[in-house]
Amino acid sequence: MRKTLVAANWKMHGTKAFAEQLLAELNSGLESGNGSSQVVICPPYPYLGWVADRIGQAQLGAQNLSEQPSGAFTGEVSAEMLKDCGARYVIVGHSERRSLYGESSQLVAAKFAAAKSAGLIPMLCVGESLEQRESGKTLEVVAEQIQAVVALGLEDCWESAVIAYEPVWAIGTGKTATPEQAQEVHQFIRQQLGKDGDKVQILYGGSVKAGNAAELFAKPDIDGALVGGASLKAEEFIQICRAAD
Ligand code: 13P
Repeated sequence: MRKTLVAANWKMHGTKAFAEQLLAELNSGLESGNGSSQVVICPPYPYLGWVADRIGQAQLGAQNLSEQPSGAFTGEVSAEMLKDCGARYVIVGHSERRSLYGESSQLVAAKFAAAKSAGLIPMLCVGESLEQRESGKTLEVVAEQIQAVVALGLEDCWESAVIAYEPVWAIGTGKTATPEQAQEVHQFIRQQLGKDGDKVQILYGGSVKAGNAAELFAKPDIDGALVGGASLKAEEFIQICRAAD
């Protein structure tokens, strides 16, 4: 039986004062739930160590990492450094990294491998643009993004890894995929992974809110959510976590 997981991607939002207030509210709200789902908080890099000390029962994740282990790579952050700061998870291949920073599926796969080799749990984001969906290419695009990682032939690759299906057209737009649309892609992702397909947690991301979380989580292949905007509102994020319990 797969556990449900709700992850907060704060993106490049907030200040330390904002984070302090948000964490205090989250901690007290999450304490009173039954806590059967896992909660992961992914703050911006500079706040990682600081959030680690205040994270309560949630776990820490980062939003990105370098594919390199160390060296002269100004501005980059390695998997080992993230671990040192208390991170257990790391997002790789978020659509904003792919589209705004030109990260190819091959680079994303290298980041996935770097995370695994340091013992971090990668959260691999995949998803199609509106144009790709409208031209019937959704499954082809998702398959290419998944297969770039499969092609590395990593041992026990999916046992401790997470996939997040985040259709680009649903991110930050208020336009959520229907539970049926998401379920179709999640099921397809499991098929892509063959015998490992049933093990991996697959999250949905894209305008998840308190009002639509429960119907998404009711689908058999949706194991939780990767939440952007709504994760910056304590009350709403707590309600999403409750819907996953
Ligand atoms: P929103 O929840 O703001 O649509 O963002 C989703 C996302 O990109 C999470 O990684």
